[in-house]
Formats: sequence, structure tokens, C-alpha cells
Amino acid sequence: MTSLKRSHEADPLASNISSKVYVRSTRSGKVQKIVREVYLRTDIPCSSKLCKACLERAPRNAAGQIQPFVLSDKPAGTKAVPQGHYLVPDTNALLNAMDLFEQGSSFYDVINLQTVLEELRNRSLPLYNRLVGLTKSEDKRFYVFYNDFRLETYVNREPNESVNDRNDRAVRLAVKWYGDHLARTMANKVPAIVMLSDDQDNLRKARAQGLHASTLAGYVEGLEDGEKLLDMIAESQSQGGFQKPSQMLYPEYYTMSKMMTGVKAGLMHQGIFNVSPYNYLEGSIKVPAFPKPLLVLDRESINRAVDGDVVVVELLPRDKWKEPSTQIIEEDTITRNENADAEERDDFVSDKERKALQEEVKKTQKASSESQLQPTAKVVGVIKRNWRQYVGHIDPSSASKSSTQGRKQDSVFLIPMDKKIPKIRLRTRQVSELLGKRLLVTIDTWDRDSRHPVGHFVRSLGELETKGAETEALLLEWDVQYRPFPKTVLDCLPKEGHDWKVPASTDDPGWRDREDLRELLICSIDPPGCQDIDDALHARKLPNGNYEVGVHIADVSHFVKPANAMDAEASIRGTTVYLVDKRIDMLPMILGTDLCSLKPYVERFAFSVIWEVNKNADIVDVRFTKSVIKSREAFSYEQAQLRIDDKAQQDDLTNGMRMLLKLSKKLKKKRMEAGALSLSSPEVKVQMESESSDPIDVKTKELLDTNSLVEEFMLFANVSVAAKIYEAFPQTAILRRHAAPPKTNFDELSNQLRVKKGLELRTDSSKALADSLDQCVEPQEPFFNTLVRIMATRCMMSAEYFCSGTQAYPGFRHYGLASEIYTHFTSPIRRYADLLAHRQLAAAIGYEAVHPSVRSRGRLEAVCKNINVRHRNAQMAGRASIAYYVGQALKGKVAEEDAFVMKIFSNGFVVLVPRFGIEGLIRLRDLAEPEPDSEFDAESYTLTTKGSRAVNVELFQKVKVRVRDEKDERTGKRGVRMELIGA
Ligand SMILES: [Zn+2]
Repeated sequence: MTSLKRSHEADPLASNISSKVYVRSTRSGKVQKIVREVYLRTDIPCSSKLCKACLERAPRNAAGQIQPFVLSDKPAGTKAVPQGHYLVPDTNALLNAMDLFEQGSSFYDVINLQTVLEELRNRSLPLYNRLVGLTKSEDKRFYVFYNDFRLETYVNREPNESVNDRNDRAVRLAVKWYGDHLARTMANKVPAIVMLSDDQDNLRKARAQGLHASTLAGYVEGLEDGEKLLDMIAESQSQGGFQKPSQMLYPEYYTMSKMMTGVKAGLMHQGIFNVSPYNYLEGSIKVPAFPKPLLVLDRESINRAVDGDVVVVELLPRDKWKEPSTQIIEEDTITRNENADAEERDDFVSDKERKALQEEVKKTQKASSESQLQPTAKVVGVIKRNWRQYVGHIDPSSASKSSTQGRKQDSVFLIPMDKKIPKIRLRTRQVSELLGKRLLVTIDTWDRDSRHPVGHFVRSLGELETKGAETEALLLEWDVQYRPFPKTVLDCLPKEGHDWKVPASTDDPGWRDREDLRELLICSIDPPGCQDIDDALHARKLPNGNYEVGVHIADVSHFVKPANAMDAEASIRGTTVYLVDKRIDMLPMILGTDLCSLKPYVERFAFSVIWEVNKNADIVDVRFTKSVIKSREAFSYEQAQLRIDDKAQQDDLTNGMRMLLKLSKKLKKKRMEAGALSLSSPEVKVQMESESSDPIDVKTKELLDTNSLVEEFMLFANVSVAAKIYEAFPQTAILRRHAAPPKTNFDELSNQLRVKKGLELRTDSSKALADSLDQCVEPQEPFFNTLVRIMATRCMMSAEYFCSGTQAYPGFRHYGLASEIYTHFTSPIRRYADLLAHRQLAAAIGYEAVHPSVRSRGRLEAVCKNINVRHRNAQMAGRASIAYYVGQALKGKVAEEDAFVMKIFSNGFVVLVPRFGIEGLIRLRDLAEPEPDSEFDAESYTLTTKGSRAVNVELFQKVKVRVRDEKDERTGKRGVRMELIGA
């Protein structure tokens, strides 16, 4: 930290200097005292449009302008303060109810004190970022007042005064100052300054000083739509919580120091808690000390951990180790009809849950063999909660009759869309309005005496099953940033807008160091209707018999400069998200679909990779250059394929594509020989009726040679660029790796293939795996191989972006592509990683200076962490969107389809329907009424039923199912229901 110390004597403002003492602990654990001198000022404005005095004194910039004032001259009034008011929240008010401040009907003209902002940042970075977002919004009128820098509002900490008390005092002083200061404006109506706090002591002191002070609940009650807003206050803060039982239901968490000691000694383990998608009473965590994940079974051992939390667990003795569950246990079914108001003392583990678990034990005891046992553990503490906002709907069976009528506050259960998240208890006054709606809620607390976590209502997204509500729901569930781009971002776009053109004169600075490739016969090949064209290609024969091949990528880094508002926004979004009927862009549309897009017939800036390759597609030479190109045609995969196959077409462009196709096959062969995997995920396409955008059919995507052509050359370019930027920036190159999966990941699948099909899966290298996957065929059943590949894909690690300095070279390897180095370069319009790679490549070839942001390892690591999450979320959102539309396409129809059994439980099984790319659960109780008797053989993966219905279901078996949409009477939610017709 740099010293701000100057000589006191020489400074005329010396009397205004106060010192601020910071105490911080260093990494080595020592405590450092840092003294900073603060120059107190009298020109920091109140920013009220009523105040002339501040307008005259406020600091001006070089152009003589002052920051526009924020707070309204006609602020809204309430019952308590009809003359109008400004709000001053303390830190706890913001911590407890940020959602309130964000909603649109009230909470305008808010003064955010520097003291509060700093405290908030220390307590919760996500909430701090949301508040900063609010201060940037023009309509909310949130002003940041630097009270610690203004002479009259600065507060020195008294001896023996706690930091907390000092900060509370600072808030009260600022409230008082604002009141006195605005009184001096002699305005017609002087707004009241209302302090918001839930701290009783602070409130009492404020009132004693004659200030307007209110609790959140008290303030909200005085607003017009107060009743609704009350739901948005965290339960623990509002008056009258739940009836508390005297008994604690869950074990107490260990202290932090006890956990730290335990982890160090190897007696406890820290990791991320994951809940099984099939059984809400089974969680697992991966820890370095064990090859297999530790299992956490039952409510008490899970001990209030929620999916995604960072927890510490303690191992259970060996005689309690178990096999993973072979049973489907759904919270929804087991805990149906629970009363949300009554606290369950005696039936903490309800009878139904106990029974479900006992059946489980009986069944596994039979089949257990020592090698299949997994260590079990219990949660003893939570290091970091990973709670976010959740989307769900109210369980109507939890709403009492009276609550659907009156305006009385009631407890209800919210069933989250994400099955891994437990039911959340809410208190609300508007049950009748909220039933049947998609809702956004947060979790506030989960105390030892509460069976379920407690949360509060944030807002309604609309009626269940409507397109708008369901789309917004999945964007929120996967944390996709879908708000329109703010003005600050749009201000970074070229002033010419859609009229922007490549400058006509090659003397223009835009042409500096660019190669003129406009004469090349370049074309693009994409899915039909693609508007954001990232890449285009060309090939031509050279006089020496070799080929020149070019991959030309949209020059996005020409338009998006490092560290400006547009770059910052793109780095947060990380990727464009593709839903069935909608695209949520990473960059403003004008760039993605026009100025950067390598559209046909117009000149565009590009970043080109140009190789000379021989007939065998070996690289003779490669170079990288910024360029200007003019694409001759934008083909769809199908169009390009037709053109290549049509022998009558002998023009140079078509022949160029034929060369590309031939070379791409050589590249692919080489990759496959090196051990690249060809993996599968069921890819389906929803056909929409163009006018109504209602789904009409679902088709499995067909892959043509031209798909593979484009893919091979993009991989080729990415590998060449990766090597180049790594050479230039050994510590900070942004690369993509795919770790080899631990051998144990394949244990189950290997065993299944051996037992059921007599096939051997070899996993010692990607080459061995690729070859053995090729052997997994059934002559009569071509889909079997795809099924195995889909299942194998799920055993893999996920690929990730990283910064080259964080790994040793062997760790760079991309297992799936069998490439020793790899990056993403070819889609800068829709992936932020590619934009960074462009900047690094531009610096590596000396086109431009290295910007600090692409050289700072710390910053790049943070960016990688974010884009890894965004990338995964975008995939999940895309899949969820397909699942929703498949359901819609099936509406009112019944289809009989082939399906394959991909997982077997003791009380049901999971099938995959290739035609729709969807998986469905068929439970024993779905087979017949009453539920048939069954026998489950875990060793041979067989489920046999008799009695009310006799079937024999085995893993990998092909079955016939009836697929239809179903509206769940209880939740009003539409889903896909599968029935077994024949096994
Ligand atoms: Zn003022």
C-alpha cells in the first residue's frame, strides 16, 4: 500500500486531516496496522437537485463540468412522510433486503454512505455488486455519498468503541447532516431523511437524536403496496417468525478452528456438496484423499448442506460404509401434504423417509461386495454457502384453505425447479395470487430447529407453463445475464452504427498492418439462418502442388477494446446463450450480427490463420495476420454439401470447398489415430412454426460431411493459435484443457458392459478408450454404440479454460481431442475466451501492444473461473430450453417410441428416447395400480416384477414406451410422462 503521508505544516488544509487506521492481518498471520491520512473536504455535494449551495461548490472536471446531481427535487412521499423523503439504509438493511431496493415500485432516491458500502463489500461481494449496479441505473436515483471524506460527516473511532458502533454513529451523523443541510435550501418542501435499520440499538439512538428512523418492515408497511413488499423481507428480520420448537433438529456445526485442525490432521475433509439427482437424501463430495466420492446419506448427516455449498465432513467408521443408492427417492413424493406451519418435533425423519431408507438398506445388504462400498461421511460444518436465487412454485397442498382467501401471513412450501434443492419455507400474505405462478425466491437461513430452509419471495415471473415465465425461469436458474445492454455499453459501439464500413482508402488507420485478402474466394458454412458468422474459409492449390488454406475469424477485438464498459460486460456474460427460440448475446447485436459478422458480399475485418499444407494435410508453414476479406457466399451445411456433391459445379469456389473437405478428412483421420474421442450427446432440433414460433416437431440433428469439414479446420486453427500465444506468453496464455478422467470414473460403466454384454472398456488412455468404444457394438442395434458413448461422456471431466502459468505443460493436454495444447480462437462473437486469445495473438505478432489486462495472471485466472461457470450454465440453459420445447411439441399428442434403459434402480428405471433426446423416469408405481411386487438384482442390473404386472427390465434393453405430455394436477406444471408398453 502506498503512503499518502505529506508534511502537515506545509499544508493549509492541515486541520482537515484526520488519520484513518486500518488493521489487517497478513498472509503469514501477523497483524499490520496501517495509518492513512484522510484529507477531509467540504466540497463533496449532497447531490440533491434542490440544493443550490452544493451546485456552486461541487468539484469540476477539466472541461468545467460537475457530475449531474442524482436525488430528485420532488421525491415520493409516504403516509409517515407526506412531504417526500430520501432513504439512508444501514448495512444490515441492504444485507437483508437487497431485493426490495431492486424492485420497481418504490425505493427511489437512496443515499448510500461510503461507510455502508465498504461494510457491505466486506460482508457480501455479490450484494455489493448488486448495489453498485443500482447506483449505475439512471432511474433508481441511488447516490454514493463519501461521508468519510466530508469534514462534517467524518467520524473518528472513540477509544473502546467497536467498529460496528462507530459505523452506526457515522450513519446517524450523515442522516442528521443531510437533514440540517437540506433545511438550509429553504425549499418549498424539504424532504425527510429516513434512516432504515433493523438494529434496535441504532434505531433507539437515532430516534433519541430526533431523526426519522424506521425498521424495514415498518417503512414498507407505510407504502402503497406494502403488503406485497413485506414478503420480500428476510424472515428472521421481520416481526413474529415461525413458532420455534424447543428441540434442535440438526447437530450443531463445529467451530471454524476445530474444522481447520481436523482438515489439517486428515480427520475431516473439505469439498463441494453435491446432491444426487435421483435421491434427495443422498449427497456426495469428492475429496483428494479418496478415489471414490464420499457419500453423505440421510437428513441428519446432510445436516442442512445445500447442493453447491462448500462443506467439511467427518468420515464414518468403516462398518457404516455403503454402496451408492439403488433407489429413487423424491422429496416431492415423500413429503407431500406436509403442513408448512407445524414444526415436526417427533417426526424429524418422517416415517415415510425412514421406511424408504430401510428398504434401501435391506436391498443393498444382499448384494454388497466389499469393493463396491463407498466411504460415508457426515457434514460437520459449512465453509461457504452457495445459495443463489431459486425458481419454483408453491406446493398447493401446503397452502391451507384459509390462506387462499384472507390477507393473513401464511407459511407455504416452495418446490424448487432444481430437484437437488430442498423445499423452501416461505411466509407470505398473498398465497392466492402466488399459487400457479413461477416464483423467484431466496434462502435466508437454515437454523438447527427448522426442518427446511427458510426463504422469502422475490418476485413472480408469471403463470406456470407460459413461454415468458418458463424462459425467464431457466435463464434465472442458470444465472444467464439477459437484461438489455446498458447505455454505457452501447456508447462503446461505432458511431456510424449499421452504416459502418471497412474504410475505402487503404491509407486509413483501420487498414494499418492488415493484409488485403479481398480477392480470395472465401465462404462461410453454418447452420441454416445463422446470423452471427464467426468464421469463414478458403483453400487454393499452390504452384508447388501444396495447398493454401485459410481460416478467417471475425475481428471482434477491433471493435471491443480492453477494459471499456463493453469489454467488462462481455467478460461477465462470458458467452452467448442459445435457447430454442432465443439468443442471449454476449455482445450488442449490431456487432454480432452485422459489423463483426463475416456476412457474404461485404468487406469485413478479419483475423486470419493461413497455412501451407501438403497433400497429407501436414503443416509446411503457418502465419497469422489481421486482414480484410470479402466472403463470396454464406452456405448452410446442407447447401454446401449439395454443392460439393454436384459434379456439374466446377467453379473455383466449389472446388476450393472440395479441397477443404478432402483435407479435413485427413485431419480427422490423424486426430482419431492419435486417440481423439468421438463422444455423443443426444442432439435434437426443435422445429418451429415460423409464424407463431410454436414447436411442431422434434428431429434428431443429422450430421453431414460439411459439419465435420468446418469442425476440423476450427480445431486446426485453435491448435495453431494455442501454440503461438503460448510461445509468446508462457505464463499468461489463455488455453483450454481437458483432464484425463480418473480410472474409477469408468468403474460402473465397465462393469455394466462386462456383465450385460461381455464387452471390455479399456480406459488406460484416450486411444484405448476410443478403440474399445468402437468395439461396443450390437449388430442388430446400431443405437447401442451411441448409447454407450452417451454414458461414457458422462464419466468424463469437463474441459476448462486456464492460464498457462497455472499448469505444467503435460497438464495442458486436451484428452478428448488428443491434442497437447488447445485454445478457443474461432468464435469471438459468442465466447469471451476467444476475444482474449485474439488480443494475445495480436500482441504475439506485433500488431499491437500488450494490454495489461491480457498480461495480468491474477486477472486472467479470475476471468477463466467466471467463463468456465458461464460456459457450463449456457449449456445447461440450452438443454433445459430444448426439454421445455420438446414437452410443448408433445402437447396433446401421444407417441410410441423406442427407448433404451440406461439406469436401473430397485424401484424404477431411467430410459432414453433417442428420437426426442430426452430421458424419463419410470417408477414401479407407474407400471400398475397397485404397485407390482418386484425383485431387484443389483449384480445383474435386472428388475423383475410380478403380481399386478409382470415385466423383466434389464440395463441396455430396448423397450417400447408411450410418451405423452402430462399436466400434473397438483402443481399445474406440464411435463413429459413415459409409460412402459413392452419390455
Ligand atoms: Zn447540498
